[in-house]
Amino acid sequence: MFVGKEGTDLKFNYHMPVKVIMGKGCIKANSDLFSNRWQKALIVTGKTSAKKNGALDDVVQVLDKNGIAYVVFDEVEPNPPIDNVQKGAETAIRHSADLIIGIGGGSPMDAAKAIAMLAANGNPSGNIFRSDYEKPALPIIAVPTTAGTGSEVTQYSIITVPEERTKKNLSAPSLFPEIAFLDAGYMKEMPRDITINTAIDAYSHSVESYLSARSTEMSTVPALESIRVLGEVFPILAGKKAIDSDTREKLLYASMLGGVAIAQTGTTVVHAMGYALTFSKNIDHGMANGLLLCEFLNYVRPENKEKVDTVLTLSGFSTTEKMKEIFIELLGQNRILTKDEISEYAERTVSAKSVANTVPVPALEDIEELYRKSVGV
Ligand code: NAP
Ligand code: FE
Repeated sequence: MFVGKEGTDLKFNYHMPVKVIMGKGCIKANSDLFSNRWQKALIVTGKTSAKKNGALDDVVQVLDKNGIAYVVFDEVEPNPPIDNVQKGAETAIRHSADLIIGIGGGSPMDAAKAIAMLAANGNPSGNIFRSDYEKPALPIIAVPTTAGTGSEVTQYSIITVPEERTKKNLSAPSLFPEIAFLDAGYMKEMPRDITINTAIDAYSHSVESYLSARSTEMSTVPALESIRVLGEVFPILAGKKAIDSDTREKLLYASMLGGVAIAQTGTTVVHAMGYALTFSKNIDHGMANGLLLCEFLNYVRPENKEKVDTVLTLSGFSTTEKMKEIFIELLGQNRILTKDEISEYAERTVSAKSVANTVPVPALEDIEELYRKSVGV
């Protein structure tokens, strides 16, 4: 059942070194964690949200209080491409930053991680996804302002590679943030569509992790709890009422748990297939996963019947068809890919590392079939 090193009885090898602090006002309440540690921070954000939702102000106040100088790099694009993070790394080096703080959704948090690695290693050109960096990344602090990616507790930084028309994963133990501050108050004004897309990304992480070939007892616990909490929240997201602060907290908690789970197991073919949809069709990351997830469950079901039933029961869906109905209600119908596009995207996807985590491992034709059933015209 467990995948350890071949020939050993290893049950799991669990590593999650992030100090995770959750609660309203948690950054300012823990100002002492910053004292006498760092001289100069690079704060990495997207264009506007961190300024509007109060997260940037809170971080700046705490840095000021501790006498830590800072520079803001607020140019992170959604699904950040390589040149975007290289520019951030240049800024970090120019200002001799010794701490990188990522505030935002997955895009700024992942950019902050890549910047931390590149800056520590002199912003090398060439393949940024290599595993032989000489120095560990600069210390990272993460402040998630979406509830979806769980990047605040993972060692992954997902960066777009325009030449390859997809995204790739920079992964290293030093990319685990040192501290993650989870304050759902920053999400008060988040539009419903971003809330739904990111919630479904979190759900996808937990479901994929639970069904991954690399799933262990330790990864199953956060994955199932995340699925259960998100199952409670789906009816609220599908309704018309405003999303209250309790629901926001649940989403942020479940998203963090999904991150803890994928930090152990990685994702599966769902995320790999979603990257092509995001790159070529500009479909939001969480939405892309959501559009693929129901057919993924149908595909893995013959070999994972009990697990798929557990996912459906915990989520409050009677069948995958019912789940699909609700997801279409949440995300909208999106039948967009022609036969030629499906062949091209499947080619791009089949060699992605995470495909091998899927049980059973899909062949090219299986990936084509999954695209066709999920989003084919
Ligand atoms: P995002 O691209 O970070 O943000 C999407 C949008 O939401 C942006 O327009 C952003 O505005 C806005 N936004 C952020 N916080 C907000 C708030 N509190 N209120 C209102 N608007 C807000 O989206 P995401 O889904 O969180 O992240 C997606 C990225 O994460 C993808 O690149 C994906 O591949 C990656 N990812 C990483 C991991 C991992 O383990 N590292 C896992 C899954 C996904 P601004 O641009 O102005 O900030
Ligand atoms: Fe994701």
